Amino acid sequence: MNSYVSKIRLPPLPSIRDLVKLYKLRAIKQLSQNFLMDERLTDKIVKAAGTLTDHYVCEVGPGPGGISRSIIKKAPKKLILVEKDPRFLPSLMLLKESCLNYTSINIDIDDILKYNLQRALEGAPKMDWTHAPPPIHLIGNLPFSVSTILIIKWLEAISEKKAAWAYGRTSMTLTFQKEVAERMVAQPYDKVRSFVPKPDVDVGVVTLIPLKKALIDMPFSQVEKVVRTIFNTRQKYCMKGAQKLFPAEQTEYLTTRLFVLANVNPTTRSYQLTNEDFVRLCYAYKIICDEYPAVQSFDYRASKGIDIEPGCN
Ligand code: SAM
Repeated sequence: MNSYVSKIRLPPLPSIRDLVKLYKLRAIKQLSQNFLMDERLTDKIVKAAGTLTDHYVCEVGPGPGGISRSIIKKAPKKLILVEKDPRFLPSLMLLKESCLNYTSINIDIDDILKYNLQRALEGAPKMDWTHAPPPIHLIGNLPFSVSTILIIKWLEAISEKKAAWAYGRTSMTLTFQKEVAERMVAQPYDKVRSFVPKPDVDVGVVTLIPLKKALIDMPFSQVEKVVRTIFNTRQKYCMKGAQKLFPAEQTEYLTTRLFVLANVNPTTRSYQLTNEDFVRLCYAYKIICDEYPAVQSFDYRASKGIDIEPGCN
């Protein structure tokens, strides 16, 4: 059966375009706001999320509510809307009031980066981590800068089984800049693991479901540090990036040791590394951190006096 069958017909509502005009909801460029007006497109994004009927769904950044309408058509049990910009409250309230008979909707004017998802999802069924995902789904068409920070935060919560992942392997569907989306699903050796040519701004929709067993049994912060540092020079030999994991006076020795311990060729280009290579590199890094505890807290950028950590680019 096609998973995207509209379960309910929404009551007559002004179009999103009319609501935007009615409430003077000018998209704020500085906040990278833009609104999806085309119902076929919002239906398509929601379709990527799979079955939502009777699920608990949290939509982040609903704006005037285009995607929210497509979600409601799939008859979720509960829809939680988390929107930072209070200007959207009236249009979201209108949606809530007209759908009282279909779905229970909570509207929270809040920043998703500070929002307590675990509390918001109280009452949702919990599933064992080794079982199928729980009937919970997170959806968002956020500004790209926010979705990149958010996914890193959520990956950390996944590794700790906190927030929405206290309920099991909760799945997520998020939009990213198309090149970022392509890189997220790229295989090793795939050139889209690098940002060449320079990106234009098309959108990609990515659905993620946490694995039953993490590939690397280490704290997220350590894994993230190794992967980010090596990928910072993704077109170059991976040892170039890896050097930045270690203080200057020990760089040469410890970088060599890292690659020997991991049994990875240091002249592999970063974008050619496989997940298995990263698994071995992370464990090798852990061995070195155990031998040289100062390495763990070493921060290359701080050592060079660079204080702003770039996003995950
Ligand atoms: N989802 C709507 C759509 O597709 O038409 C709006 C998309 S617009 C690109 C992004 C929305 O995310 C805006 O409504 C913006 O106010 C909201 N937003 C941005 N940062 C946010 C945050 N940290 N927490 C919650 N909402 C946020």
